[in-house]
Amino acid sequence: MQYISDFNFKDKRAIIRVDYNVPLDREQRIIDPKKIDSTFFTINKIIEDGGRVVLISHLGRPKNGYEEEFSMKPIREYLEKAFNEEVKMTAVSDNPALYADKIVILENLRFYIGEEKADLAFAKELAKWGDVYINDAFATAHRKHASTVVLPTLFKEKFAGSLMQKEIENANKILHSPKSPFVLIVGGGKISDKIKPINKLLPLIDTLILGGGAANTFLKAMDVEMGDSLVQDDQMDHIYHILDYAKFKKIKIVLPIDLVVVKKNNDGEFSWPEVVDVDDDIDEGYMALDIGPKTQEKFASVIESAKTILWSGPMGVSENEFFRMGTLSVAKSIEKAVHNGAFSLIGGGDTAAALAEENIANFGFVSTGGSALLEYIADQKLPALVALG
Ligand code: ADP
Ligand code: MG
Repeated sequence: MQYISDFNFKDKRAIIRVDYNVPLDREQRIIDPKKIDSTFFTINKIIEDGGRVVLISHLGRPKNGYEEEFSMKPIREYLEKAFNEEVKMTAVSDNPALYADKIVILENLRFYIGEEKADLAFAKELAKWGDVYINDAFATAHRKHASTVVLPTLFKEKFAGSLMQKEIENANKILHSPKSPFVLIVGGGKISDKIKPINKLLPLIDTLILGGGAANTFLKAMDVEMGDSLVQDDQMDHIYHILDYAKFKKIKIVLPIDLVVVKKNNDGEFSWPEVVDVDDDIDEGYMALDIGPKTQEKFASVIESAKTILWSGPMGVSENEFFRMGTLSVAKSIEKAVHNGAFSLIGGGDTAAALAEENIANFGFVSTGGSALLEYIADQKLPALVALG
């Protein structure tokens, strides 16, 4: 694989696949710009060499072509302020010759059906925007989309950007003889997104901690009533398989013992949060939105004695500060473990966003990848990396 430090981009126009899928609030304001800022090293290198950049990214999950709420407009504005430079945004179908600017950004790649279908014709249309290709989007490196796996095949000169390089180097630190105990912490929303990486990582780890929505289906599999919590009944077979394998291989699975729950009234308003013991089940109408204080303690004792930690996904609905306590508590436990010599790697957009404002001294490297990070640790041949050669 070639890195950008090995090349001079003078007079070249680099098409850069970035991951600017940043969290936005209801007014389309960027909540956490970390993913954007992390690509500045790459962008600056091209510009300082005397080249130009065309940035391409997806944002959210638009369904039907253009949707205002998924437009890259707020990102364009952010870039303009950050670089103090006019940044133009345009459609893929536009004529590149009309844009001599140093920085151009194309509209959300997922407005075009060809992106997720890894369509060659769409990749060819994208290719006209660059002389060379750079992938700096580690967080989407596990996806087989036009911009990540087809587009690079259309270029002779293709590179991993410096963020991509840094992410790989940090992930490799976990891969090279991870010290035991190795604790994997999985949270977030849907367990279905995490089954594959969990299965791949199980043989490497000593303990699996589950929190957030990801834990709910496990609890249900153990006959806990989960009320109206996010549970994926269609994933039960996968859960039983994980539980069986863990038992057989003596891998500890640590689940929440208490949860923070709320009830939604008829007007859609939430009740004041309450803590419920998992043993007492969750009543109908109630939803588990965070781990409780006893769970925080239980998780802390496991995490603090770990020597290798990999964490992806918040312990609750961390966008809301009422349900961020569990996530912060895990971060603080990791900080202690790191202080005691553990190596930790934290990934995931929502996880990083929940921690961004907190004053935690050092909890190791915070990756811009969530699923991509887990998948990389499990198997380094991510499609976008393979495509870079
Ligand atoms: P990351 O972005 O860090 O990889 P995910 O995207 O997998 O994390 O998961 C984050 C999402 O999971 C957030 O939108 C959060 O609200 C949701 N989530 C976490 N815990 C719960 C829960 N108990 N019930 C419903 N959603 C949850
Ligand atoms: Mg997320």
